[in-house]
Amino acid sequence: MLGPVILAASRSDRMRRLISAAPVTRQVVDRFIPGETVDDIVPIIKGLTGRGLELTMDVVGEDITTPEQAAAARDAYLALIDRLSDLGLGERVEMSVKLSMFGQALPGGHELALANVRPVVEAAAAIGTTVTLDAEDHTTLDSMFAVHEELRKDFPQTGCVIQAYLFRTEADARRLAAAGSRVRLVKGAYKEPAEVAYQQKQEIDKAYVRVLRTLMEGEGYPMIGSHDPRLISIAQELARRAGRKLDEYEFQMLYGIRSDEHLRLAAEGHRMRVYTAYGTDWYGYFMRRLAEKPANLRFFARSMISK
Ligand code: FAD
Repeated sequence: MLGPVILAASRSDRMRRLISAAPVTRQVVDRFIPGETVDDIVPIIKGLTGRGLELTMDVVGEDITTPEQAAAARDAYLALIDRLSDLGLGERVEMSVKLSMFGQALPGGHELALANVRPVVEAAAAIGTTVTLDAEDHTTLDSMFAVHEELRKDFPQTGCVIQAYLFRTEADARRLAAAGSRVRLVKGAYKEPAEVAYQQKQEIDKAYVRVLRTLMEGEGYPMIGSHDPRLISIAQELARRAGRKLDEYEFQMLYGIRSDEHLRLAAEGHRMRVYTAYGTDWYGYFMRRLAEKPANLRFFARSMISK
């Protein structure tokens, strides 16, 4: 029951101000968002790649209100890509991008987001890596898929995310499971109405398996974004039945969640990519992590009280 309440709070400016200003917040936030600047995050990137993991980087921020902020978001990714190039880590680290941060919700936002994301995709390709477009709430997805299709004309390796909780996703998966496509499947992290999305965990998990089967049996490159042990074993079994080799799909998990499992799967020879977020505008990302596991909220509340 707490999840939807926390997700509603993630859209509230009042809650954002309250939580962002709490002195203890940064320590708790660190578990999921381990830095604010490129300099903070470089040691984390080196540490994870040094342990055999790959990364996808998210410069956090989503509720922007001006074109200047969207341009700043683009520049933040370009600065990160420059640093990865200097470190020679381009091929191990890809980018995850939220189009809302690139201006999608502003007037003329579809074109603005496309114009801002394109240089990031170009810069990523120049250092041997790629970009995946994150999936946000359902109202943004037609635009996201259109941007994805446009980018793929020049950069076919550009990935996108689909969310098992949405009714539309089975059809999206059939369309996307084509040769050369890279698709991350997740359960879905936003508060969605019953008209467009399954609401019960069991239904979402069943939909996840159906969509995963479509991706595994298709010709694209499935990226399994989940920490759910049951879904991870099902993914391994579906990959085996589809005759996929270990480098024909990958697992992805979030930084700070089930870290032992990241290492276990990598040690088994799987490609394991850790979604690593950093930056100052962490509120939305942090609140979604609290909503996914209410025990996180209890821990957060206890830390505030004990201060
Ligand atoms: P769950 O059933 O939620 O969790 C399984 C187990 O994992 C839990 O029992 C718990 O042990 C652990 N766990 C899960 N979440 C947490 C947490 N926050 N804190 C502590 N433990 C936890 N969603 C989108 O809507 N759009 C995206 O673009 C997107 N990108 C993602 C990228 C990656 C790599 C991953 C892993 C997730 C992404 N998500 C995205 C979030 C996703 O939709 C889910 O909300 C999230 O992954 C939790 O679902 P689960 O599959 O891990 O299963």
